[in-house]
Amino acid sequence: MIKLPILPGAILGILGGGQLGRMFTIAARTMGYKVMVLDPDPQSPAGQMADVHLQAGYDDHGALKKMAEACAAVTTEFENVPAESLIELSRNCRVSPGAEAVAIVQDRSREKTWLRDNGFPTAPFALVGSEGELEAAAQVTGFPAILKVSRFGYDGKGQCRVGSMAELKTAFAEMEGNPCVLEGFVSLECEVSVVLGRGDDGECRAWPVGENRHENGILDVSIVPARISGALAQQALDMAVQVAGKLGYVGVMAVEYFVDKMGGLMINEIAPRPHNSGHYTLDACVTDQFEQQVRALAGLPLGDTRLLSPAVMVNILGDRWKNGGPNWGALLAHPNIKLHLYGKEAARPARKMGHFNVLDADLGEALRLAEQMREQL
Ligand code: AMP
Repeated sequence: MIKLPILPGAILGILGGGQLGRMFTIAARTMGYKVMVLDPDPQSPAGQMADVHLQAGYDDHGALKKMAEACAAVTTEFENVPAESLIELSRNCRVSPGAEAVAIVQDRSREKTWLRDNGFPTAPFALVGSEGELEAAAQVTGFPAILKVSRFGYDGKGQCRVGSMAELKTAFAEMEGNPCVLEGFVSLECEVSVVLGRGDDGECRAWPVGENRHENGILDVSIVPARISGALAQQALDMAVQVAGKLGYVGVMAVEYFVDKMGGLMINEIAPRPHNSGHYTLDACVTDQFEQQVRALAGLPLGDTRLLSPAVMVNILGDRWKNGGPNWGALLAHPNIKLHLYGKEAARPARKMGHFNVLDADLGEALRLAEQMREQL
């Protein structure tokens, strides 16, 4: 069945009202769509920007019904949306990504198993459902290893690095019986990611590979293009396109990779949505990841993903508010720095409050300025 494109004037829906939903909402409204956001938080960053904010839970049947009736298409901004809600919506309106793809990637155990079954490289891992399985799992991964809870972990939360059987037992006990994945600790050369859009017709457009630095398990800086060999970058791009194809994915998604000391690529995780490491596209590319999310959802041709300038993206976390708040003046004084704030009132430690992109024809210079600003903020 040929699906006609959804054109401006129509209402698009999004499950989740965080910063990713906010940037989707801004992109959609810029293009002339109306936006309905579902999020229980009355102050959600996307709710502030939306035409309609449905303040209800993600499994609220009444709210889902309203959404399906009003919207021409619905997408999600986070992986932990109940897959059943996507199924429920899809009975009455277009939904992408599909429930099946989201169900795989929202559960680390399923995701890792799917990657292995489909021949994609990962760090050595074993699934752990009970204490009795810890010994065998540790045999697979060795020590050090990282124990990660299967569901609802993010930004390094729900993870624990362990160096011995005793530590592993303690860490598993702290996971309160939730299923986990034990992963071998990879000695990292660097981390990179690929963000791409995939249309209904299977057309894929990826942005250049980004190099990501994390601090305490949270993305800190993305450097684009990644300072890796052309061959490795191509391998990362090809693998991401294959992952999207095998998932039958429609929308914007990201694949995060580890690069080990031997230059080998392993998939760390897949995000079924635009990704923090793709925020540089807002200022440095012909089409940014949120416009692409709108395009894929609406069934429009995908936009050009060309990089117009090397870029460095720096996350701004709530920790910076400890001593009176960031020094915005210093940041905004620079003509080639672009500030994005998410409209969050409470600046809690580790909470993502915003980011800034530094653009410069010389990547080294962009990185130098980004680091200087990071210190001065
Ligand atoms: P995750 O939430 O799984 O993406 O983990 C957050 C960050 O922790 C990653 O981006 C890595 O910097 C680090 N990390 C996670 N798993 C491993 C691993 N198996 N080996 C080395 N570093 C890891």
